[in-house]
Amino acid sequence: MKISKLYLFPIALLMLSSCKISVNALENATITTATTTPKNIALNGKIYSAVWQQNSGEFMALSYQAYNIATYRLDEALKMKKGKPLAIITDVDETFLDNSPYAVTESEKGKDFNDATWANWTAKANAKAYPGSLDFFKYAASKNVKIFYITNRNENDKAGTLKNLKDLGFPNADEQYVVVRSTTSDKEERRNAVLKNYNVVLYLGDNLGDFANMFYKKTQAERNQNVENNADLFGKKFIMLPNSGYGDWESAMPGFNYKLTPAQKDSVILKNVVGY
Ligand SMILES: [Mg+2]
Repeated sequence: MKISKLYLFPIALLMLSSCKISVNALENATITTATTTPKNIALNGKIYSAVWQQNSGEFMALSYQAYNIATYRLDEALKMKKGKPLAIITDVDETFLDNSPYAVTESEKGKDFNDATWANWTAKANAKAYPGSLDFFKYAASKNVKIFYITNRNENDKAGTLKNLKDLGFPNADEQYVVVRSTTSDKEERRNAVLKNYNVVLYLGDNLGDFANMFYKKTQAERNQNVENNADLFGKKFIMLPNSGYGDWESAMPGFNYKLTPAQKDSVILKNVVGY
């Protein structure tokens, strides 16, 4: 019998209301988790996304899958190499740095993302790497391919970001290659600056805006149509990593706005899901 996700969701929330939960799939793993249950769908959803990201073999497998495909495509590009030196442009958050602990801690407090608490988290430089990511970037660097980290973290986050990347052992973790947001979250100008001097063979991201300008600040209908129109690029030039916790898909949802109250967000979310 197929069990609806709608029935599983309250069960998951009951699990999260206790101080500690043990996860069957990881027998010895006990994680500290919510002591209170957030009162709205959006924040509960962030915890549900985080529990999947932190515990499931399925999340691990998706990450390995993405980085295995990236390795395969990189090897293809290396065989064809000519002209400008090769480079990879990658996003950082939820492309290879796992920020799910931030989402959990804020959701427990009934809070969503905000710049001040985010700055506290990034300054800790404690985010873990997605499975397969470090090996992939080290492999690329070993082939003399430069890695440009184009992120919408800002100047305030830069020191923590560099430390986090260096501590984990990521290549090119320095000022020249870690390109933070200054004036705009649109990454096109920063991508174009790299393209002047490099042949960019791969783009990695968890958000469509990490790949091309055609997805930036577009309506849901436009961005989804652009995915359809460019379907063959995914797994070739564009490597997508899993992130169900947040992304521009939220603000693209009809009626959604980050400034809405939690109750208003819930109302918009319920209008954008389909039952039977
Ligand atoms: Mg990201």
